[in-house]
Amino acid sequence: MAFRNFKMVGYVIYGRGSFNQLDEIIAPHRKDGAPMIFLVDHFFTGKTLPNRIPLRGNDTVIFADVTHEPKTTYVDRLANQLKETYGKVSGIIGIGGGSTMDLAKAVALMMNNPGSSADYQGWDLVKLPGAYKVGIPTLSGTGAEVSRTTVLTGPTKKLGMNSDFTPFDQIVLDPELTADAPANQRFYTGMDCYIHCFESLNGTYLNEFSKSYGDKALQLCRDVYVNKTGWDADSDDKLMMASYAGGMSIAYSQVGVAHAVSYGLSYLLGTKHGVGNCIVFDKLQEYYPEGVEEFKLMVEKNKIDIPQHICAGLSEDDFDKMINVSLGMKPLWENALGKDWEKIMTKDRLRALYDQL
Ligand code: NAD
Ligand code: ZN
Repeated sequence: MAFRNFKMVGYVIYGRGSFNQLDEIIAPHRKDGAPMIFLVDHFFTGKTLPNRIPLRGNDTVIFADVTHEPKTTYVDRLANQLKETYGKVSGIIGIGGGSTMDLAKAVALMMNNPGSSADYQGWDLVKLPGAYKVGIPTLSGTGAEVSRTTVLTGPTKKLGMNSDFTPFDQIVLDPELTADAPANQRFYTGMDCYIHCFESLNGTYLNEFSKSYGDKALQLCRDVYVNKTGWDADSDDKLMMASYAGGMSIAYSQVGVAHAVSYGLSYLLGTKHGVGNCIVFDKLQEYYPEGVEEFKLMVEKNKIDIPQHICAGLSEDDFDKMINVSLGMKPLWENALGKDWEKIMTKDRLRALYDQL
């Protein structure tokens, strides 16, 4: 058996107000007058955060349109536009949720790699280091700040640019930046982390490395969503570390049933990652009984709406598409159900599960 030798994020700064150190952190990476590009979640248009960005010289702020989760066409357009305008950039700094961070990673890679980002959807296809890249989360839960992938929807597949060149050179974890997120969004993205942990901790790929981080992240999620009443600064601090630890947990294991099924929804219906995982996990009593019971408690306690009946009225053809995408996520199923997963998760069984969503 070959053990995975994985590349991690270069530098990490954590703490309330650490965003204020961004200017000094990126200063040594400014090259020959080439600009730093700040890719900022469009939610912050007209808000105060953009005024705090340390702009110098011909630095530019681009607001990222994350109405839909990142597509390869959007990544290519941004990278080509930057190459045409500036030739070279000093770096790409992504400030936002998982979508914006993934966009920043992908655009940074495409500054130095030829062709389209769609050519690199898969494992270890990226051959050259990208531009210097920094990730600054404004939502906690996806673990995109620590992962070695960037999830993109391309012409033929929804798959990441998974490579040793993908992790950020620097991340800035400032929990203050997540303070104003709406309760529903914060819950959906936070549950991405809870579900990462549950799938990792209950999977056949589990090992002590993943378990150590997964246990910790799960405990932090419980502190925030089960033990506390109301949201405060401490909740933002804890959830940001939960996201980090949850990302580290799956780095050395894998996710499971909720993610495999949710990918089908996202492919066909464009359902977003966080809410999609919640819609599926809500119906997984058979696979994760304790987790689902606790999940329902957290939904109720935090007064969250989980959409229901989103598959009502779909055609047979639609169901087939979702089933095929989902069953294509082989490592996820193997982690969840073991080597004989194909005998367990038949098309009929998966069809019955989609019927409930
Ligand atoms: P998101 O980035 O898609 O953002 C969701 C919404 O929240 C958007 O409308 C955004 O504008 C808004 N938003 C962001 N920050 C906000 C704030 N502070 N206050 C108010 N609104 C804010 O959501 P997400 O759940 O963080 O990310 C999901 C994406 O992450 C998906 O594209 C998914 O594929 C990806 N993902 C990547 C990895 C990875 O390892 N690379 C892992 C999990 C998920
Ligand atoms: Zn996830």
